[in-house]
Amino acid sequence: MVIVMAPGATEEQIEHVVERVESVGGEAFVSKGVERTIIGLVGDIDSFHHLNLRALGGVADVHRISDPYKLVSRQHHPERSTVWVGPAGHRVPIGPETFTFIAGPCAVETPGQTLEAAQMAQAAGATVLRGGAFKPRTSPYAFQGLGLEGLKILAETREATGMPVVTEVVDARDVPIVCEYADMLQIGTRNMANFGLLQAAGEAGTPVLLKRGMTATIEEWLMAAEYIAQRGNLDVVLCERGIRTFEPATRNTLDISAVPIVQATSHLPIIVDPSHAAGRKDLVVPLARAGIAAGADGVIVDVHPDPESALCDGPQALVGSDLRDLAAAVRRIPPLVGRVDAAERLQVT
Ligand code: PEP
Ligand code: MN
Repeated sequence: MVIVMAPGATEEQIEHVVERVESVGGEAFVSKGVERTIIGLVGDIDSFHHLNLRALGGVADVHRISDPYKLVSRQHHPERSTVWVGPAGHRVPIGPETFTFIAGPCAVETPGQTLEAAQMAQAAGATVLRGGAFKPRTSPYAFQGLGLEGLKILAETREATGMPVVTEVVDARDVPIVCEYADMLQIGTRNMANFGLLQAAGEAGTPVLLKRGMTATIEEWLMAAEYIAQRGNLDVVLCERGIRTFEPATRNTLDISAVPIVQATSHLPIIVDPSHAAGRKDLVVPLARAGIAAGADGVIVDVHPDPESALCDGPQALVGSDLRDLAAAVRRIPPLVGRVDAAERLQVT
């Protein structure tokens, strides 16, 4: 941490800052320039926060040098992490050495629709099944998902296909029941800053797919991941799913730059969701290609056997030639950026 003193700061004010820092066990290195004095702090950053340094007389500015998050930061854990998803015998890695393809229906509607979507996804190369049982809809009148019934359908579909399941949880009270049926908890964009839910997911210990809040900065998103990690769960995969910008042509703008930025600052894997970013199926494949080329650790997309009849997000669901184009991108691009397909690395443990 670095404190910049105001040009007219007095010796007493500088001395007072040094005393305050030393009072909590820190060290203060004073550097006097012609115009200004800079004080470099060494010690426990959290104890410096309690000092309210910005409020002290003569202090012009306070700059943080280290990341505000710890457990998810590469400063504390330089190696990038791999998160394993699924039961013994069907564990799928998501991390720096593989590329993981996740696909499935936006919402679980019927056993038949879910199985058909899962089979389409699997045939295209997906190794993890997505599907919403609890749907966080913008409108309270829209289809809210099948709830427990949906979780049971997902578990049956896993049984039939061998694909581990990721599904959203929208309420901290539902975390235990969702963990009973799912292999990975999804926390959606609307709940990224629901701290009680993040903590409950952290305590559950099941891997978490944490989507970026649509208005969250990368730092706020990593702080949300820190909430989960702080409760003892470091199996967190981040998902860039588009942020809200002034551009109305797409539902959200996929922030491709988040991929290398997150990989440089956090050890957690990061995947992209072009379906929820674009909201339109014609953009899903181009955005997926861009995300893969930028180095994402995986991609998650909506597929549906009959998008026209989908109860949720039909316009963005892939089927037919679009899905085949995505499958080709998932096969061809990762090796060009130094990865192999997760399917090749699938380890039976
Ligand atoms: C979803 O994946 O079904 C979903 C609702 O995503 P998001 O939270 O990114 O909108
Ligand atoms: Mn959706």
